Amino acid sequence: MRYYIGLDLGGTNLKYALGDATGNILVKLTRPSWADKSQESIFVNIFAAVEKLLEIAKENELDVAAIGVGSPGNVDFNTGRIVGQAANIKEWADAPIRERLQNRFHLPVWTDNDANMVAIAEARVGAGRGFNHIVFITVGTGIGGGIIINGQMYRGGNYNAAEIGHMCINYQGKKCPCGGTGCLELYAAAPAIVNLYISKLREAGYQENEDLISTELIFDRAKNNDVLARETMDFACKMLGIGIANVVNLLNPQAVIIGGGVAEAGEDYIGRVRRYVFEHALKPSLIGLRILQAQLGNEAGVTGAIILAADNTLNFTN
Ligand SMILES: [Zn+2]
Repeated sequence: MRYYIGLDLGGTNLKYALGDATGNILVKLTRPSWADKSQESIFVNIFAAVEKLLEIAKENELDVAAIGVGSPGNVDFNTGRIVGQAANIKEWADAPIRERLQNRFHLPVWTDNDANMVAIAEARVGAGRGFNHIVFITVGTGIGGGIIINGQMYRGGNYNAAEIGHMCINYQGKKCPCGGTGCLELYAAAPAIVNLYISKLREAGYQENEDLISTELIFDRAKNNDVLARETMDFACKMLGIGIANVVNLLNPQAVIIGGGVAEAGEDYIGRVRRYVFEHALKPSLIGLRILQAQLGNEAGVTGAIILAADNTLNFTN
């Protein structure tokens, strides 16, 4: 049996794991990602992580066949390079991930955007099992996504597909740092939810320690019938639901899987989003459509990286 190394590079942590082609993880480790350091330092850190896993594989006489890497930013899947800047990692612009890792370890290396990795993992071993056409959406600090059509990742012409967070939901709305106007994440991502609730509190004359307000707190209060919290949550769900309805009209997926920190609120949140999707999307597209919560949690990134490496190595050698 062959094994694969999966890496999930984030703004805070580098998660790294050893697993098999079905996404089963044998060893999973975490270290700081050194995201505020130079590009060279980040590579040194990644090399150390891979070396550690190769060591463990060797001790257990496991054959490592390839490496998969999930990274923030726009990743050119063919060359394995970052295109332009990557969110949260200042020095990671244009990082030649495949080249550096292949030169160092002489193993095939596959790399893709981190949201795509989670989408692959959810599609294969998470909430999307059994579906061929899947849209994955992650709702956290921002809103990202991954699109799977006929079981295959759809990356787009410049590897920049599925930027669902920057879909225009209000053309007369707020300006987005991306250059657009009224982007979905300005209304439905965690900072937008927190800011809306704070503005409602201020308007109503309540004084609170605003630093302690989080989406968890707001959703909790909504559950306990706090009117302002309920209005806030409902608005965020409505915006996301309308955004998803647009995606559903465009792609007619069988399943939409919602993950990320905000979605951890569970069925209270997902159910409300689902209602708005069903209110706004075309009826024929809604037949059999499932709106599901992601299942894999914070192992999803490395699991997807392992599956990506396995899939591509198998295609490559067959
Ligand atoms: Zn935008």
